[in-house]
Amino acid sequence: MSAPSAPPAPAGPRLLLRRLREVLIGAGDAQQRLDRVVKAIAANMVAEVCSVYMLRNGVLELYATEGLRAESVHRTTLRIGEGLVGLIAQQMRPLALSDAQSHPNFAYRPETGEEIYHSLMGVPIVRGGRVIGVLVVQNRTRRQYADDEIEAMQTIAMVLGEMTTGPLPGQVGGETAGQRLSTRLAGIALNDGMARGVAVLHEPRVVVERHVADDPQAERRRLDEALSGLRAQIDQMLDHPGLGGGGEPRDILETYRMFASDRGWVGRLHQGIATGLTAEAAVERVQVEARTRMAEASDPYLRERLHDLEDLANRLLRHLVGSADTAAAGRLPNEAVLLARNMGPAELLEYDRGRLRAVVLEEGSTTAHVAIVARALGIPMLGRVKGALEQIDPGDTLVVDGTNQQVFVRPGSDVLRAYGERVAVLQARQAAYSALRDVPAVTRDGTRVSLALNAGLLLDLPGLEATGAEGIGLYRTELQFMVRSGMPSIAAQTEYYRQVLEQVGEWPVTFRTLDIGGDKLLPYLAMQEEDNPAMGWRAIRFSLDRPVLLRMQLRALLRASAGRQLRVMFPMVAEPGEFVAAKRYLEREATRLRRLGEAGPSGIEVGSMLEVPSLALHLPALLPLVDFISIGSNDLLQFLFASDRGNPRLADRYDLLSPAMLGLLRDIIRQCDASGVPVALCGEAAGRPIEALALLALGLRRLSMPAMAVGPVKAMIRSTDLPPLAAALAPRLASAERSLRDWLRDYTERQGIPL
Ligand code: PEP
Ligand code: MG
Repeated sequence: MSAPSAPPAPAGPRLLLRRLREVLIGAGDAQQRLDRVVKAIAANMVAEVCSVYMLRNGVLELYATEGLRAESVHRTTLRIGEGLVGLIAQQMRPLALSDAQSHPNFAYRPETGEEIYHSLMGVPIVRGGRVIGVLVVQNRTRRQYADDEIEAMQTIAMVLGEMTTGPLPGQVGGETAGQRLSTRLAGIALNDGMARGVAVLHEPRVVVERHVADDPQAERRRLDEALSGLRAQIDQMLDHPGLGGGGEPRDILETYRMFASDRGWVGRLHQGIATGLTAEAAVERVQVEARTRMAEASDPYLRERLHDLEDLANRLLRHLVGSADTAAAGRLPNEAVLLARNMGPAELLEYDRGRLRAVVLEEGSTTAHVAIVARALGIPMLGRVKGALEQIDPGDTLVVDGTNQQVFVRPGSDVLRAYGERVAVLQARQAAYSALRDVPAVTRDGTRVSLALNAGLLLDLPGLEATGAEGIGLYRTELQFMVRSGMPSIAAQTEYYRQVLEQVGEWPVTFRTLDIGGDKLLPYLAMQEEDNPAMGWRAIRFSLDRPVLLRMQLRALLRASAGRQLRVMFPMVAEPGEFVAAKRYLEREATRLRRLGEAGPSGIEVGSMLEVPSLALHLPALLPLVDFISIGSNDLLQFLFASDRGNPRLADRYDLLSPAMLGLLRDIIRQCDASGVPVALCGEAAGRPIEALALLALGLRRLSMPAMAVGPVKAMIRSTDLPPLAAALAPRLASAERSLRDWLRDYTERQGIPL
């Protein structure tokens, strides 16, 4: 047995990188070049053996070796996970062993003659984040490989991976380990539906083309400039969260800012340049390291932070190549499935809807506004899909299955066949819902329910004709403001509202005045940074303090409604005085219009959203002032439980079907009924059959929902006998349970009520 020897220092990774580049672009065929590469690496690393295994037909095949027997080239193969080489590919991380043969995974291949080599160090060869092969060095002595040697090997492997583009001899196309595997990722449906398409990254990854630097000094300068640009962008996003390209919550941005100035991270990038890499390649090199650590990390917090680093590195790469655009700026494939960590509602609206089939997010929650926009656009959206950005590559085929809350990645023919069958079933179900279009929404005991639509864009309006809904119960006017790059003039707004009314015909439309702030920001309106934007200076608060916008909007609404009924409601009213003040602006604008001799509406109804709990406690004072109430259950739930509606960690924590929330809703409905004030509910709950059922049992008779929900809700209504359900539900509102969902689901199953 020989004693461990001191590790020989690698003879300058920079020199080796240069040599590699010369070899890889030099004369000879691919095999000859690979043969020269292993020779150069062995010499540089002071190793007796250097071998390259490449993935071919799903197995790792010895493609070139310096030191092992020549006859084993193209003969020796290992499956992924088999032997030490297979283990390195499987785990996607380096392995360094002073006594390789005693490792439980060691698989002896007699044809190689490797029995005389004791120590082994191998690293995965990665391209585009996927393993395509393994690079190995071996030594006779039982030697320890130093960390800087392992790092140097990783750098070499990375360059090798990116430079050996195109198939090697015998390979059919470039093979990668990940490409071959189909997988299924679970999430939650933010908008139901099935779709198939090609994965497109909302924030595209940059493909690094140049790895070896000609002028390290210049690369250092480029890196520093890109880092400054990155920091400035993050600062800007912190000033306007939601505008900078991710809709990221504040804490993520804070973490990004911290990392972007972190000496360790920046130091590693500079180190990469010192070894001869270009700035882009240095970033990619650090990214590979982070991915390796991510694969090892079991602590969810650490994984999350490594994930942030990956994201940050992608942003830095985009700064380096000077393209900070999202995929919306380019042309989407015909059937695109958008992939993002998160995005804001305005960002989703930038996409070509004709080509967008579905959206997959790593974060998100059902009441986040991006989900509401997806519903308005009729785009299936899956949220909280853990690892989506790691597991899915751009160009991968995806099948998004909202009903079963999962996405199939690179699906096999069986999944694609099942998808086709499911689509046929869904189409049949949709046809059955369409057949309900003209039948009334009446329960089995004869209770009539009014179903209206939530809308926000002109493209929502054909839903009225298609579903047989009775008007627009909530028109979110801010969406129209959000899709524009500048503030619309009064004339433009008037024309727009006129189009809405024209398309809707005789049906009533309830226009809600601008509800901006929180996660709904206007790109052209600078808002102050706030610690709690959802509870901040938003909606009616903003409108009353800066009434110009509100007055412009009210004037446009009055003009557009000339000769017909106008229904207006105000968002986020917290106390009756705010309603009174807002209504006064409306009255003033109406008086002004009359004075000018312009035609005004035939009648005006003014209502209030009820989405702040304080207003529920102030109803006796409010009800005599309003023509109607619309409950915004999304915000009401968020404020009742002090639980951010957009925070994925809290998304399942509090339930609308909790006795507390249902009790509050029951009290609101009772008071409105007693005062003769019509009350509707226009939050997302109205469109979910099980929640709508509970609302009906509490006495609510008006629901407003996305078009897609009308069929399922009507089917539920027509199979329901309300009095026994109301009687069974009432005593349960006093229970200590966190939710009555399970009880209600059992009830519907027993009664045969479709949900
Ligand atoms: C609500 O809060 O329930 C609501 C309908 O308003 P938005 O979702 O637009 O905040
Ligand atoms: Mg709201």
